[in-house]
Amino acid sequence: MNEHVTPWLNAYHDGELRGRRLQQVKEHLALCATCRAESESLQTLAALLQDAPVAETLTPPDRFVAQVGLRLPRRPTQPAWKSALETGWRLVPVGLLGAWAFVQAVFIVSGVALRALQMGLGGDAAAQLLPASQQALSLTELLSSSGASLSDVGQTALRLLGDGGPLGWGVMLNLASLAVIGLLYWSWLASWWARRQHHSESGRTA
Ligand SMILES: [Zn+2]
Repeated sequence: MNEHVTPWLNAYHDGELRGRRLQQVKEHLALCATCRAESESLQTLAALLQDAPVAETLTPPDRFVAQVGLRLPRRPTQPAWKSALETGWRLVPVGLLGAWAFVQAVFIVSGVALRALQMGLGGDAAAQLLPASQQALSLTELLSSSGASLSDVGQTALRLLGDGGPLGWGVMLNLASLAVIGLLYWSWLASWWARRQHHSESGRTA
């Protein structure tokens, strides 16, 4: 028996063989079961490839790049201090909520104390409760000193406080602290939004 014609089978199926080589392959296939089996499996494979839609088996370059990009990690891992900072940043609204709750609690307590004072009940107890409202005052001053516009709000509140009498100052101080907390919250929200925009933009260009 001659040498196997395996190396020529592809060319044979593609119709590229001519003359003596073509004759040789045909004759060998008639005699050799091994090469006949190989030839048949090549034919089956060719039929399968023809049936399969081209668009799904071949990936366009753009799509390939996009798919590789999706499999890559989004960003390099951040250092510990940076993620700690990130966590602190995200807790700002929680802190503001806590400050708001504190201010509300202080005003409820001082409101009770003032009412007690106005009704002339237990002068000692009212005097003990009053420092709590002084704390609220210093909190508002602390918050309002963080910016020019905020300190304006604080000063206005303090001025009205002086004029407004016992009932007026509680309401004004409450409103002022709410305004300060609201303002801080909105500025946090604005910078959070700005950061998000920045991130998504750098994500697109990267
Ligand atoms: Zn053979």
